[in-house]
Amino acid sequence: MEDANSARKASADVLSDDCQSRTIIERAPCLSSGNADSMREHQKCGCYFCVRVFDSKDVTEFTDNGSAICPNCGTDALLPGVTDLSVLESASERWFAEAAR
Ligand SMILES: [Zn+2]
Repeated sequence: MEDANSARKASADVLSDDCQSRTIIERAPCLSSGNADSMREHQKCGCYFCVRVFDSKDVTEFTDNGSAICPNCGTDALLPGVTDLSVLESASERWFAEAAR
């Protein structure tokens, strides 16, 4: 299990890694996909598209393949148990920078 600190530390060199990486940031697309079970195990979750943290109980919509949908922005980019905004920001930049800019 990685924690927020290790993810933050690793955020500087995320560009060369892929989905198998240990960091939350690099695994964000995996963690946000088919995560309905994982969502139930965590009280909080963070969206790395709009960079906000939610109570998991506020997340009521899921995609057909069981990915939690963000109650704020409607993107299936929720990371169960990830509440560190700096991690969410880094993940957002890593995966959504092109769309946002
Ligand atoms: Zn969102």
